[in-house]
Amino acid sequence: MDKLVLFDVDGTLLHTAGAGRRAIRAALLPELGADGPIDGVRFDGKTDPQIIRELLVAARHPEPNSDAVISAVCDRYLRLLEREFATGTRRPTVYPGVRVLLDRLEARGDTLLGLLTGNLAQGARMKLDAAGLSPDRFRIGAFGSDHHDRARLPPIAAARARRLMGRVPVGAEVIIIGDTPADMTCGSTLGVRAIGVATGRFTTDELRMAGGFEAFPDLAETERVLAAIYA
Ligand SMILES: [Mg+2]
Repeated sequence: MDKLVLFDVDGTLLHTAGAGRRAIRAALLPELGADGPIDGVRFDGKTDPQIIRELLVAARHPEPNSDAVISAVCDRYLRLLEREFATGTRRPTVYPGVRVLLDRLEARGDTLLGLLTGNLAQGARMKLDAAGLSPDRFRIGAFGSDHHDRARLPPIAAARARRLMGRVPVGAEVIIIGDTPADMTCGSTLGVRAIGVATGRFTTDELRMAGGFEAFPDLAETERVLAAIYA
């Protein structure tokens, strides 16, 4: 194993058609008593604990930084997200090219797949499962449940890869694939290579300008995406 490829989840591998947003909104209701100002707030690029804290602040909650409050909201969110998917009518959609790209990366034998996402670890598993992508294909991960600051996640992922790679991967041995400027910048201090995919809210130009080594409209151009990963 000499390459670690870390995928963001929402906007990169799949989209949940609002299930995540509905679950966070409902999870906050007991704290806020009524709907807080959630509609104008963007979630992409942020970790779940960060989103919850920002929404508590925006709603003038008395204890927006309380770990106990945030962790209670996270627990409710996970139960509500599970319920969203349990109905079976709200399956997340996997973006074009994702399944083929994962198959190709796994087939090489020299590449470790992982997740680097603002989702809580359990939330990421639920979303992937509901989308019909086995979470176990991603053998390591760093999550919003590990740290609320996305920029702290790449070193956590690299350290966890040691068990399987025999060493901590560095620089362009680590690839981060994501749909937001935050994905492009979060590994910059480690010198990782970020690759953008414009299936979320940002264009390929915006992702390149944010520091992406390369950016694609989606992941369906398998050969070009592989060329960027192994350049
Ligand atoms: Mg994303």
